Amino acid sequence: MYTRVFLAILFILLVVAVTRQEVIVHQVQSADTITIYNAATKQTEKVSRIVRTDAEWKKILTPEQFRVTRMKGTEPPGTCPAPVKGVGGIYQCVCCGTDLFAYDTKFESGTGWPSFKGPVSDLNVKEIADNSFGMQRTEIVCARCGAHLGHVFNDGPPPTGKRYCINSVALKPAGKPSAELEIATFAAGCFWGSEDAFRKLLGKGVVSTRVGYTGGDFKNPTYEDVHNKETGHVEAVEVTFDPAKISYEKLLDLFWTIHNPFRSDGQGPDIGSAYRAVIFYHTPEQQKLAEESKAALQKAKASSGKIATLILPAKVFYPAEEYHQQYYEKTGQPHVCPVY
Ligand SMILES: [Zn+2]
Repeated sequence: MYTRVFLAILFILLVVAVTRQEVIVHQVQSADTITIYNAATKQTEKVSRIVRTDAEWKKILTPEQFRVTRMKGTEPPGTCPAPVKGVGGIYQCVCCGTDLFAYDTKFESGTGWPSFKGPVSDLNVKEIADNSFGMQRTEIVCARCGAHLGHVFNDGPPPTGKRYCINSVALKPAGKPSAELEIATFAAGCFWGSEDAFRKLLGKGVVSTRVGYTGGDFKNPTYEDVHNKETGHVEAVEVTFDPAKISYEKLLDLFWTIHNPFRSDGQGPDIGSAYRAVIFYHTPEQQKLAEESKAALQKAKASSGKIATLILPAKVFYPAEEYHQQYYEKTGQPHVCPVY
């Protein structure tokens, strides 16, 4: 009798434990990644959700950006001009850089707030019922970081009939880094290793990294395309950093130590045009600093030959397949890419 009761209790505990574990696993997965639309690549991509504390947001947003996006504030109408048209005519989330609205869906609503017929994709925004101030409205937030953007109303022009009424300060033109952050793009051979090297600076000014393909004109390349076709792309790492904490020069210093700048045919055992070393600059300032650092290294190592590493303007960055992202952290494999 006691044995049966004991077994029954054990069984119930086991079922509860397994169910709980499933729930927890499910929650972790759904909280970590979401699928959003990338307007530059015209593809959907899986990205990690961005979760920061208020103190962290305050460090990278202006007080007005913080009040509106993180505290659900509203800017006074007509006080802020909509940001200038971004690369590809896209406005992004000022907090996290997610593509939100296209310039050509913007219309004059007469309200004093930028108004759009619809987002670049329903994947990129989330609707939330908002019953504050005795009104029934639908709030619009960024799907990736939860930033409050504005509200959507059903009195817009065709074809959607919707009016997305958005705070200017919640938007930034595409091509400008989120908030006060900057982007640096480097190709230094195999991107598993270059990303790993820059991730050592996470928390020291580097905010995030991702690997991908850039430099060519071939659209939406896969790993196979880049390695088997003449796409013009190289394996590269895109580094988002806070210039108040780490300078672009420091990133350049690291870049020069993780590849052999005298080779034009690849790096380590990786031979081919996809492994060329390149600095892709995003601003005239980055170009100047990159050229100065290259000249200084050339002078110091004049006897080693001519530096082959290129300095080129940044082009569309196509994120690599998910399994290439943070490869060494995910697989626990030893770092095989050479460091110089
Ligand atoms: Zn966002």
